[in-house]
Amino acid sequence: MNQQTNFRIGTGYDIHRLEIGRPLILGGIEIPFEKGLVGHSDADVISHAICDALLGAIALGDIGEHFPDTDPNYKGVSSLKFLEKALTLLREHGYKISNIDITICAERPKLGKWKNIIKEKLAETLQISITQINIKGKTNEGLDSIGRGEAIAVSAIALIYSN
Ligand code: MG
Repeated sequence: MNQQTNFRIGTGYDIHRLEIGRPLILGGIEIPFEKGLVGHSDADVISHAICDALLGAIALGDIGEHFPDTDPNYKGVSSLKFLEKALTLLREHGYKISNIDITICAERPKLGKWKNIIKEKLAETLQISITQINIKGKTNEGLDSIGRGEAIAVSAIALIYSN
């Protein structure tokens, strides 16, 4: 008997402002830099975009509905917690992660040497292999707020499946 595999796909996008005096947390890793992202949680823009991609794939709304930034419980919290919760929801719906692909748009800092470390942390959190996550880094060619180094944006796509 053939078992049918069901695929679903979701996208996520997030942007946070950079300010002096905040730690820069990307994918659960603190990156040495003179500025960090501003937000209610740790403002981990990578984890937020992936969380939205996973929630999107199971049609469960967005990160703001599940983890409102008005909730004091989420103040300063590690955004890896949001990924853990998204993974739990995914499993409750009978799905597994096939792969995740993300694009980071940041003028600075250069993230090339951090990509593997971030991938390892995300893979560990989402309980998948490092080969199921890809990270692409881009600058904004000096254009707009990202190009001026005022913000970092991330887009993510996630494919999930059940069989
Ligand atoms: Mg966010």
